[in-house]
Amino acid sequence: MKLTGEERARIADSKHKIQSAANSLTHVDPRKVPHFDEIEECLENADESLKGALRTESEPEKPNAIPTENRCKERASLSRDLAVAIKNVYLSKKAYYDARFKKQDTSDLWAALQTARVAELTVERAFNDHVNRHGCKI
Ligand SMILES: [Zn+2]
Repeated sequence: MKLTGEERARIADSKHKIQSAANSLTHVDPRKVPHFDEIEECLENADESLKGALRTESEPEKPNAIPTENRCKERASLSRDLAVAIKNVYLSKKAYYDARFKKQDTSDLWAALQTARVAELTVERAFNDHVNRHGCKI
């Protein structure tokens, strides 16, 4: 089944929201939330599943599948920044949890995670502001 440009954009947006929800949990002390690990895992599975839907659709890679004149360049650029920022949060979070699991000192990793998270929120806000202002779908 082929996804339309708008469906792809909606999936990409949902993916951002799920990642953002997963990232916002990094501010929560896991000991205070029952089944915290399952919640995180569930969000990560949902994210993977949406990523899978987008990936299947984009094979074989056709860079010009969407005519460039219909694409918002600023949105594409912000979306790329957001993907990088989200990945940084993910990697920082992983490093933090790995260290915590091994009972190592986590203070630097925690600080790095907070920095990555603030950066991610900044880019996410810029992305949402742009989409709200411009109303672009792809
Ligand atoms: Zn736009």
